[in-house]
Amino acid sequence: MKYLTLVFDDGPSYPIREIADKIKSYGWNAAFAVIGRKITDETVDMIKYVTDNGFQVVSHAQNHVHIEKLSTREEMKEELITPIETVRQMIGYEITMARLPFLSESENVLSVTKELGLPLLGQGIDGGRDWDPTTKPEFIASAVLGSVCDGAVGCLHVLEGTCKALDTILPNLKDMGYCLVTPQELFKRTGITPPLGVQIHNVYDFKR
Ligand SMILES: [Zn+2]
Repeated sequence: MKYLTLVFDDGPSYPIREIADKIKSYGWNAAFAVIGRKITDETVDMIKYVTDNGFQVVSHAQNHVHIEKLSTREEMKEELITPIETVRQMIGYEITMARLPFLSESENVLSVTKELGLPLLGQGIDGGRDWDPTTKPEFIASAVLGSVCDGAVGCLHVLEGTCKALDTILPNLKDMGYCLVTPQELFKRTGITPPLGVQIHNVYDFKR
């Protein structure tokens, strides 16, 4: 069996539940990278829904800014940590990983995340520009299916086109012998310790 993980960015927002339900219907899991300022009394239920269903949630920063452009390490830390504190306070769920907005890094950002003990989920699968709402679901599906590999970390978004593309992506992944798991489960199954201070595109880049 081959394993990979998909991480859906920029929620909590519609259609996060629909994405989770589709993945769940295969008995699979995935993760959602949430933006702190989008977490409100209304949207926190979406986070509760996915975590109750076994999905992992990770920090996608408080304001979705280019963290590497912030002037101090304190500001960088705050961007990454605020969503973690919010989710902990609101539903008691403990976030342990992060994804950088725009996947953009600098030496300073990497060292801050290392200090915080936050492994960074990268982009090891072509997402077919799914962040652009005009991208066709068929294009997203063929980009994803054409670039998946064992141990990869995918980067997709909580958007309608991506949700539609899953109708093609999921059955094909099953036929190809893949199983979708959360990032933490991917590390557990492969026996690899999540590395710090580096964006993780494929867990096998980091040998046991
Ligand atoms: Zn994002």
